[in-house]
This record gives sequence, C-alpha cells and structure tokens, in this order.
Amino acid sequence: MTDYALAVDLGGTKVEAALVDVTGRVLPGSRHRRTTGATSTAEALAASVTEAVESALESATEPEIELIGAGIGSAGPIAGRTGNVSPLNLAAWRDYPLGELVGDLLPAALPVTLRMDGICIALAEVWVGAAQTESSVMGMIVSTGVGGGVILDGRVITGRSGNAGHIGHLQVAGFDDVCACGARGCLEAVASGPRTVAWARTQGWTGTTGEELAASAGQGDATARAAIERSAGAVGAAIASASALVDLDLVAIGGGFSHVADDYIDLVQAAVAHHSDFAFVTSTRVVASALSGEGPLIGAAALIHQAERVA
Ligand SMILES: [Zn+2]
Repeated sequence: MTDYALAVDLGGTKVEAALVDVTGRVLPGSRHRRTTGATSTAEALAASVTEAVESALESATEPEIELIGAGIGSAGPIAGRTGNVSPLNLAAWRDYPLGELVGDLLPAALPVTLRMDGICIALAEVWVGAAQTESSVMGMIVSTGVGGGVILDGRVITGRSGNAGHIGHLQVAGFDDVCACGARGCLEAVASGPRTVAWARTQGWTGTTGEELAASAGQGDATARAAIERSAGAVGAAIASASALVDLDLVAIGGGFSHVADDYIDLVQAAVAHHSDFAFVTSTRVVASALSGEGPLIGAAALIHQAERVA
C-alpha cells in the first residue's frame, strides 16, 4: 500500500484536484480541473469543486492506494483553521465551508487541512522545490494576483486568522495604486500581470496581455521593458520589507508573470540587493520556483504529508 493525499487547489479561475504520494508525486491520470471564475454562483463553484474532487478520487480505487487525508490550498482570504474561505476573486463565496464540502466527498472520515494557497506554495518549495536546504523561506506567486506564504525556522506561519503571508498586500513605497482590498499602494496593485499591463497602457503601450508585454519587451520596446522593471522593482521592495521583519534566507518566485522576461528574477534580486544598508535584508536570495505547474497541488498535499510543519 502507498499513502496518498487528496490535494485540492482553489483559485480565481480554476479548481484542481489530484492524488499525491509521500514523495510529492502526482498520481498519473488523477489530476482534474474545473473552472471557477469571478462571476460564478456559489452553487456553480461547489459543483466545480465536487466534480474535480470526485474525478480525482476515482483514481483512488486501485487496491494499492491508501487515502490518508485531504489538503486544500485556497485563494485568500481564509477564515482561520475552520476550513472556511472568502476568496477575494470569488465573490459568491464568503465564509464558505470548503473544508467541509471536500471532507464530505471523502470515502471515510479522514483529516482535512485547509490553508492559504501561498502557504502551500511555500511548503512545496521546502518539500520538493527550490528551498529544500533552507529553513526561513517565502514562496511567492506573481501572476494575475500576487501571493505568498512564509515558513520560519522550518514551521509554517499561519497567523491569527490564517492569512499570514499576504505579501501582495504589503504597501510599496512610492506607489499609490488602488488595490482590490481597499488599500492603496499594495504590491498586487502595482506588480501583478494585469496591473503591469494596465500601467504600460497608461504610458502609451497598446497591447493587452502579459504575453504581448513580454513579446514587446523582447523586441526592444522601452515602455514594455519599463513596465516589467517597475513590477520587479516593486516585488523586490516588498521582499526586502518582509525580510526586514522576519529575516528570510530565500524567496522562491513562481507564477506566469514571473516568466515575462528572462531576467525577471534577476531584476527582483537586484532590487532586494540595493534596498538598504542592512546586510541581513539585502543578502536574502531570490530564485525562480523549482516547481512545475503541479506545485500548488503538491503544496496542498504537503498539508497532509508534511503535517508536522503545519501543526
Ligand atoms: Zn491590497
């Protein structure tokens, strides 16, 4: 018998579920995806989660598979350790009992652990990714949003309400952009893919997507390049501020927009390195995530397989 965790990753555009073993390997054929989306009703979201989970669980019927629990990574905010979620970009779900929904789909009463998706990313980096030799780590996503999670001295930092690690809502000096959270100057409002594209358009660039921005910058368009540097500079400033507070060894960055330029990670590292005169801040290393697109699912499974880090 081999122990497997059901892993669920809930995001603003999709939900995925899969079975993941104790080495962080996704069982071939067990990964299933359904759409979510900002305009979905509460019932439609529940149906998407149910379908993805049930499809994944169909792979668990082989006799050598022992299902030992379910780990769920959710877009934030979440509600502490209750399993309830209120994802910013899924308006139909407010304080929704996602953990209970998934738990009821399991074939037996098994442990269900739900944490913010950023925490799962950080766990995956420490477990099987770019941070396996480090103890104080932040995992980050720069994509349609900006998220993260923090592990200090090898232990996950969950926080009072479950939402520690929301680096996308750290304010960055010099910026005043309005954020969806209600504040101004948040990293996500400055540096996310869509916000970076929007800024480039205010400067006269005429494309509409991150892919077009990447192509323009690659062809030497100065405005597109400036937009990318603006994003990376803001990410670096936020990382430096976070490291001043919690003294990070390493930050691993993934997410689609982190691939907008070949040197995006280098730009972020440079912004960290020149942030201040504090060596403990500027020596924080920034690396590309070593996780594939399976990273969020592997991280959700880590909530079960690496439970000692989460307790
Ligand atoms: Zn914000």
